[in-house]
Amino acid sequence: MSTFSELGLKEEILSALIDMGYETPSEIQEKAVPQVISSTDDLKAFAQTGTGKTAAFSLPIIQQIDVDNSNVQAIILSPTRELAVQIGDQIEKFSKNIRGLKVVTVYGGASIEDQTRKLNKGAQIVVGTPGRTVDLINRRRLKLGNLQWLVLDEADEMLNMGFKDDLDAVLQSTPETKQTLLFSATFPREVEAIARNYMHNPVEISAGTKNTGSDDVSNEYYVVTERNRYAAIKRIADVNPDIYGIIFCRTRRECQEVSEKLIADGYSADSLHGDLSQAQRDSVMQKFRKKTVQMLVATDVAARGLDVTDLTHVINHKLPDQNEAYTHRSGRTGRAGKKGVSIVLVTNREVGKLRPIERKIQKKFIKREVPSGTEICKIQLFKLVEKVKNTEINTEAISGYLENIYSEFEGLSREELIQKFISVEFNAFLEYYSKADDINDNRAPREADDRGRRRDDENMSRFFINIGRKDSLTPPRLMGLINDQNITNNVEIGQIEILDTFSFFELDKNFEKETIEAFLSNSPEFEGRSVNVEITKKRRSGGGGGRGGDRRPRRDGGNFRGGDRGPRRDGGDFKGKRRESTGGNRDRESRSSGSSSRVQNKSWGRKRD
Ligand code: AMP
Repeated sequence: MSTFSELGLKEEILSALIDMGYETPSEIQEKAVPQVISSTDDLKAFAQTGTGKTAAFSLPIIQQIDVDNSNVQAIILSPTRELAVQIGDQIEKFSKNIRGLKVVTVYGGASIEDQTRKLNKGAQIVVGTPGRTVDLINRRRLKLGNLQWLVLDEADEMLNMGFKDDLDAVLQSTPETKQTLLFSATFPREVEAIARNYMHNPVEISAGTKNTGSDDVSNEYYVVTERNRYAAIKRIADVNPDIYGIIFCRTRRECQEVSEKLIADGYSADSLHGDLSQAQRDSVMQKFRKKTVQMLVATDVAARGLDVTDLTHVINHKLPDQNEAYTHRSGRTGRAGKKGVSIVLVTNREVGKLRPIERKIQKKFIKREVPSGTEICKIQLFKLVEKVKNTEINTEAISGYLENIYSEFEGLSREELIQKFISVEFNAFLEYYSKADDINDNRAPREADDRGRRRDDENMSRFFINIGRKDSLTPPRLMGLINDQNITNNVEIGQIEILDTFSFFELDKNFEKETIEAFLSNSPEFEGRSVNVEITKKRRSGGGGGRGGDRRPRRDGGNFRGGDRGPRRDGGDFKGKRRESTGGNRDRESRSSGSSSRVQNKSWGRKRD
């Protein structure tokens, strides 16, 4: 293992790294830093998030920046605003001892004038999201004529998110002589095409096994019915009172629903997704980083690349559409040498979907039982006892009352007194879980599968849509388009099949008419084409294409529900005052404060500012 100074970095950078606590280079840094310092060859790097790739591309660039020249010399493109800001911050830290080096971060959703002003003052390094970068180039506010380095960070994700045209535009407006550094966790066709079209004989490096999960992450799954997903999350939070984690959802709506329920049920949670303004996203992230929010409910896109080092848990509320995304999700925990747990909630018929993920991460999922009410109560009770034991007594403040209090309790034994104090805090919790059912779905898979398949066949209508892969349509973009039509609250989307020039999607049969009407009256456009939707014949079970370009039949595939609209047979998993699964702000006052992942109500009831 080498040291940072052996990689050829200069003193100013080395001292900054020491201040940041970086002692030895990570594998990708060991490979990339000397390569980029000593050669102008393009670089193609396989690297997942969490491997230290930000420093791997930033350090050699910072080392070589000409600080006497205020032109833009390096541009780093990253898929999301959060990731761009994170990279910009890191570069500022790495270069804090280099006088005259300036970095500016540009992204949508924030004032373009402010960003232009900063650019006008001169910056050698620009970090940007593709859309805003192209916008600034077109307005001639960002000039890349002197560019020496172009970094494409998380190239696969940028393409997944539909930034291909923007990437093409940036790549075409930069000088031929620049050095291109492409970092990607995966190399699907589209990324290879970028490498082929815009890079010259790139040197290839990789860190660790491609696309495998971290050894520091334990991958676990719980089998529950669809309507008990939320109840399971609550139990996981209750059995881990110090949980600090991200709950991943597939859509903004799912995200909003889960977080609203958690907040209403008194947990310390908030949501992060694309519908929030930049200021809201910043505020949520700030609270999460400061740990005033314990559970961040996020979409894949919003949480991509987020660097929060000591997450204890990642929870997959539903499996991602693409297996690849699981690696990114689970990679949010188990970072910087810490241990973490990545939990997947699956229905009985989804268990089979874990196998291809296991092959990808080269690790087995461990089956866990959703904790019972008794287990949760035991853990919460001892947490409360610990809290009491560790509470400091402010004698001065209470001394004036003590005499009266002692006389009130006269006649109670020590044991009785302890029991009463514990009960004050804990009764509501005990009541809440005392009659809790077992919510593990232990039915044989076939039994569950039959039910699911019937639902797929009977309750879904198939729609034709006149746009496809050639229009850069992807399953997430199609879901976004459908959601944008506001057909009705919580409409369920089933299988999606994207073909070259047209596509199909399934949607809850009860909303056939509303779907057609919504598309007709909104007349949406997609990539400049008017969108046209028609009802089509239902594909026979087991036939036809797959989803998102996967051509294998997917009978079981990818249904997601925007919410639990089905008949509620018994609601949650307990029969006390509260039910677990529908959220809503019922019975708030009876909530226990025994759990530290639950918050005292006031601050969480209010809307984000
Ligand atoms: P990245 O993959 O660049 O997002 O980095 C993941 C995390 O590891 C970040 O918190 C970095 O600050 C941290 N990190 C990266 N390289 C090192 C290193 N050589 N030593 C210690 N921490 C590092």
